[in-house]
Amino acid sequence: MEKKPKNGIRNILLGVIGVLLLVLGIVIGLIIAGILSDRPLIGGAQESQEHVQITGETLEESFESETDKMTDRQDDTGETVAQETRESVPETEPIRIVLDPGHDDYCSRNHPDLGVNEQDLNLKIALACRDELETYEGVEVFMTREDGSCPDNGQGSDDVTGRTAYAGSVDADLFVSLHNNATGLGYPSEANGAEVYITVYSKFTDESRKLGESILSELTTQVDLANRGVLTRVKADKGYYDDGNTKDWYYLISTCIDQGFPGIIIEHSFMDNPHDNALLKDDSQLQAMGVADAAGIAHYFGLEKKE
Ligand SMILES: [Zn+2]
Repeated sequence: MEKKPKNGIRNILLGVIGVLLLVLGIVIGLIIAGILSDRPLIGGAQESQEHVQITGETLEESFESETDKMTDRQDDTGETVAQETRESVPETEPIRIVLDPGHDDYCSRNHPDLGVNEQDLNLKIALACRDELETYEGVEVFMTREDGSCPDNGQGSDDVTGRTAYAGSVDADLFVSLHNNATGLGYPSEANGAEVYITVYSKFTDESRKLGESILSELTTQVDLANRGVLTRVKADKGYYDDGNTKDWYYLISTCIDQGFPGIIIEHSFMDNPHDNALLKDDSQLQAMGVADAAGIAHYFGLEKKE
């Protein structure tokens, strides 16, 4: 009989300890779960917040539409309501890209005695690039020229502002001038391969570099071209941008910046290099260069192919 109360107290104590251990276990478990889930959820948590917001908006919208529908049922203007509901769905604006095949047949010709004319090469590459870009969703392509005509309106061989002004007039997001290089030292030159010139204007430099690298990555894997990298070049006597940087050497780039959008120049190859020159005399290689440019641009913007 004496043992019974002892056993009772012991059972109660064991019970209390058991409950405490259980609670402790749950608390530790929650802490560990919290730590583990916190790490990958830095991005994930934001995503779910965004999702909640989006859902919230959608709900708000459907609530509004419901109200509209009710009003409309009374007013008998169902068509107007349907239109309003459609307009309330946010649409993504297509990216507006201006392709500029460098030079032309009249005012800024460049046909060195190498069996190729730069204006023709640039045009073939640009047309292939346009056709390929148009197989993607969410992009609108404009061309400064589609034949030998002069987009500069005869302003002279150094004046390329007609091209970038056109880009400004169509509200471009990006201006891409397509060219082929030469050392000026004559055939055969050692220099070969592709390079991309970008702006030093700080607002666009990092993104332009990513774009340039994406294009060069495609160009130098789809075509047998060396990767000379993404480059900048400035000209002190042109003055400064509003961020204090010396203006870009090329007017094709600086006049884009002056209008508020980035411009890049792709130099696909060296016309006076024997290896590159042979590629340039093969239309299928020019086609491949244009397709590669498009793939690089599409990859950078995360565009998806049309179905
Ligand atoms: Zn050129």
